[in-house]
Parts: sequence; C-alpha cells; structure tokens
Amino acid sequence: MQTLKPSTRPFNHQDTYPCPVCRTGQISTMPMMEALGCNFCQHIFTASEERQLLKMADRQPPVTWHWDGKKWIGAHLEGTEFGWSYFAAAIGLIFLPTTLLGLSAYYFPPVPGSRLSWFPAAWTGLAFLSHLGIVLWLVAEFYQFPVGTYFRAWARRIRRR
Ligand SMILES: [Zn+2]
Repeated sequence: MQTLKPSTRPFNHQDTYPCPVCRTGQISTMPMMEALGCNFCQHIFTASEERQLLKMADRQPPVTWHWDGKKWIGAHLEGTEFGWSYFAAAIGLIFLPTTLLGLSAYYFPPVPGSRLSWFPAAWTGLAFLSHLGIVLWLVAEFYQFPVGTYFRAWARRIRRR
C-alpha cells in the first residue's frame, strides 16, 4: 500500500502555511507588512526565508519553528529524542506516590465511620492529580507548547459553531 506524502517545498513569504500554534488556521503574509498572521488564532509571526525559520512575535519568550519542507518543527526540539526513560520516569512519578499512598490506606485502613475515614482516599486522589499536573507541566515546558493559546483557540472555535 502506498501512502501519499505531500511534496516538500521551501518556505517563502508568498505561500500560506499551517499555523504551528493552533494547528487549525493558516498563516500568510499580512498585506503591507513583513509579518505573518494566522487567520484563526490571530497570532503574529516573523519569518526568515534564508534560515527557513518562523518566530512567534507576540509571545515572550518567543517560540521558534523550523520549516522542514512539509511541516513546522519546534526549533528547541531538533536533535532531541524523547526516550523511553523519560516516559518511564514520568509514569513512575505519577503512579509511585499514588500506589504507596493507596497501599498504606489499604493496609492501615482508617477506623470505619470515623471523621477522617475519607481522608486516605482523598489524599491518594490528590497525590495522583498533583503529580499528573507536574508531569503535564514539564511536558508543556519541554515542548514550549503554548497551552493557553491553544485552549483559547479551541474556545474560539467552539463558540463559532
Ligand atoms: Zn493559529
């Protein structure tokens, strides 16, 4: 079976490209301006044809993408391999404290009916959520993924329906 791959093309200012932020809109050069804008999330970018780079102009610190001929690649991701060890560490960070707390709650159950009998279960759930939050935050930082922008774009899309 043959898969149809989009042919590669260099980045140039005359064309339109998928938006790397919302992954929904199209970015193209704005009339009378050097900058590029997304028609969906309204973010402003500056680009370099020589270096095939796109830089988000309205975010600090700015995020940069590199055009590989087919898609945008986060410049900070080039050359990094997201290995299984990271994945295992993330899973461990989420589930190890949760499991320990869950086990201790299981082996040393609170006195049934006592005022704090709900506490171990609630604490276990809280540990799970907080560690999940830490991992998600680390992943977002690693990819420099503009989470807020992404959710705002989605909110706009839902409201438009
Ligand atoms: Zn966009």
